[in-house]
Amino acid sequence: MEKFDVTIVGAGPGGYVAAIRCAQLGMKTALIEKYPSLGGTCLNVGCIPSKALLDSSEHFYNALHHFEEHGIDIKTPKVNLKQMIERKRGVVKVTVEGINFLMRKNKITIFTGHATFATKNTIDIEKEDGKKETIETGKTIIATGSKPSSLPGIELDKKRVITSTEALEMNEVPKHLIIIGGGVIGLELGSVYGRLGSKVTVVEFMDRLIPGMDGGLSKELQRVLKKNLSFEFLFKHKVTGVKSNGKEVTVSSLNSKAEKVEVKGDYCLVAVGRKPYTDNLGLDKIGVKVDSKGRIETDDHLKTNVEGIYAIGDVVKGAMLAHKAEEEGVFVAEQMAGQKPHINYNLIPGVVYTWPEVATVGYTEEQLKEQGKKYRVGSFPFKASGRARASMDTDGFVKVLADEVTDEILGVHMIGPRTADMIAEAVVAMEYKASAEDISRMSHAHPTFTESMKEACLDATGKRALHI
Ligand code: FAD
Ligand code: NAD
Repeated sequence: MEKFDVTIVGAGPGGYVAAIRCAQLGMKTALIEKYPSLGGTCLNVGCIPSKALLDSSEHFYNALHHFEEHGIDIKTPKVNLKQMIERKRGVVKVTVEGINFLMRKNKITIFTGHATFATKNTIDIEKEDGKKETIETGKTIIATGSKPSSLPGIELDKKRVITSTEALEMNEVPKHLIIIGGGVIGLELGSVYGRLGSKVTVVEFMDRLIPGMDGGLSKELQRVLKKNLSFEFLFKHKVTGVKSNGKEVTVSSLNSKAEKVEVKGDYCLVAVGRKPYTDNLGLDKIGVKVDSKGRIETDDHLKTNVEGIYAIGDVVKGAMLAHKAEEEGVFVAEQMAGQKPHINYNLIPGVVYTWPEVATVGYTEEQLKEQGKKYRVGSFPFKASGRARASMDTDGFVKVLADEVTDEILGVHMIGPRTADMIAEAVVAMEYKASAEDISRMSHAHPTFTESMKEACLDATGKRALHI
């Protein structure tokens, strides 16, 4: 039986990054992935394909709505969805090939098949053809990720009642896409089809979009999605069932007055969160504890209750984000090698890739109020940014929350053009405990979107923004 120092189960961004770091640190490393394609949810049916379709659909939207104003006359553009999906597949393929290369480069042994613990130190791998092989391992990192959740009363037929996975592989642009859940997946994939011409209705249980994020962002995103893409929103609606007759779907919900509301469309995307995936992993056999939500329980060092077994990424508590999984992969590998790594969970940024993009890090205003913390707010609208006017991207703002006493930046919440990239400045500033004054004294190239961060900091420190 082949023996490894460490085995990682699951080749998503948590698992494959953990494998690279373990190998870099000199461990004999195995990576087990049940699918032939490495990269997990993120590369195959998550971050990368969704961003590929978001980019394509944004080009289409701009061609249709903005080219004329830019002085570009073209024939009315038409959607070629088949080609759009084909390009997306190409992006995924090249990205996955990149991971294969990295595995070879780092001499990581890949096993393709479903992993199940036989004992704490032996793992059975069942291949697609039913053949089994067993390997021995000193330590194990579980990085088995998550799968889409659903709701009671909803049968996901994956044809008309679909998850994000099917929404990335559509044969036609829906006429009316009903989305259950106004969170990240719903709004990103809703944007893709909204831009391509679908009518989009979002049915959301809470009273606002992206409920965990700063309330100011929810409001602005709702305004812009309504204005630009004619999204319709049903807030405070609890979905009770979805029926499909093969051509049409009917989504039933109860509004805040407990009245029954029905919406009809041709597709329903269920985007109400994801659940940890540990099916047939054999956790019960070796006594690894899971919590009431099915997440593997870990301590602050990402150790499970079983010596030598760690868990990272979507399968443990915390934000279900690729970069969080990656940080955890590196953290565990370095701990195994005797190092003392650190993760600042409060500074893991969150991004929603709508247009305008939403990006956030640190505490929200709601959280600061709850903590009773005294803070100052500085904000700057993109309509006052020369760069944003040049590109006609004037929706949104940057909001900086700074400690009233020390001026330390406690949270930054942005909605606007390229804020997904801009948020990195806020992360760096906050990691170094910068004050709003510090940022407001640093030169930001002109004209850039990032000047808006400086202006928001100026606004937070004595209302001295220069361009509002
Ligand atoms: P996963 O990526 O889920 O990987 C787990 C892997 O383990 C899978 O390949 C699975 O097949 C394998 N596995 C499971 N059980 C076994 C077993 N028993 N044996 C062998 N293999 C097994 N996050 C972002 O940060 N940015 C984004 O833009 C973003 N966009 C997203 C868009 C969509 C549509 C979706 C669905 C998700 C998106 N996410 C995004 C979330 C991101 O994909 C996840 O947070 C991330 O993939 C989690 O990484 P992971 O390594 O923990 O698990
Ligand atoms: P989510 O938690 O972001 O949103 C789910 C939404 O569904 C919430 O707004 C919730 O209130 C609503 N909801 C729950 N039950 C409902 C009901 N019965 N009726 C109506 N609405 C209901 O989850 P998601 O959008 O499915 O995304 C799953 C995970 O994937 C998230 O944790 C997210 O972090 C990750 N993801 C990240 C990105 C990104 O980083 N850009 C993109 C896509 C997905």
